[in-house]
Amino acid sequence: MTARILLVEDDQPIADNVLLALMRENLPCHHVRLASQGLALLREGGVDLAILDVGLPDGNGFELCRTLRGFSDVPVIFLTARADEIDRVVGLEMGADDYVLKPFSPRELAARVKAILRRGRLHPSPASVSASTSTASPTTLEADEDRARILCQGHPLDLSRSEYLILKTMVARPEKVFTREALMDAAGLAEASLERAIDTHIKSLRAKLAVHHVDAIRTHRGLGYSLDRARDGA
Ligand code: CA
Repeated sequence: MTARILLVEDDQPIADNVLLALMRENLPCHHVRLASQGLALLREGGVDLAILDVGLPDGNGFELCRTLRGFSDVPVIFLTARADEIDRVVGLEMGADDYVLKPFSPRELAARVKAILRRGRLHPSPASVSASTSTASPTTLEADEDRARILCQGHPLDLSRSEYLILKTMVARPEKVFTREALMDAAGLAEASLERAIDTHIKSLRAKLAVHHVDAIRTHRGLGYSLDRARDGA
C-alpha cells in the first residue's frame, strides 16, 4: 500500500528537498504552496499524512491543523523555523504527531514520516489499543505481556523481573513522566528500598536499549523518567 502524503510548504527549495527525500524512501508526496490548497485536498480525503509548514503565504500551519482536526485525525508533522513555535505545537495540543525544526535533514524527516505511518498501521485508531496480549506501543518498544517480555525493534530484551515491570509500565504510556515512586510500585519494590534503586534499574535498562541503538528513556530532574516516542523507523 502506498501512503499518500501531502506537503504544504511555500519555500520551493525546502519542498524540493523534502520531495526528493521522500521519493528515495518510495513515499510519493503531493506538494502545494498554500494553506487553502492544502485544506481543499485534505477535505477531499485520501491523505495518509500531512506535512505542514507553519508560515504560509495565506495563513499558517497551526490554523490549518486546527481546521483539519475538525474533520480528520490524519497524522500531521509541522515544519517550523522557530524553536519557540514548538511550545505552541506541543503546548496547545494542536493535534500534531511530530514536528521538525528548520533547518532539518530531509532524511530525518523521511524517517519520521515512515515511523508515523508504521504506527498508524499498528493502530488504526488510538481507541482500539487493547490492554491485553501483545500491546504494541508507538515506540520501537513493544510489551509482549503473554510472554512477559519486551521487544526492542522486534528483538526480545534480556531483562530482570524488575526491569521488565518498569519498562512495561513506561511502554504503556510513552512520554508520561513517571515518578520514582510510581516505578517502584510498578516493579513491586518494597517501600523500604531506596528510590535510588530505580535509578540503578533505569541505568541498566538504558544500557540494554543502547545495544539496539535506542536511547528513549528521558530523565526529568526532580520528577522521574519518561519514555520517548519513536523518532526513527530504523
Ligand atoms: Ca514558509
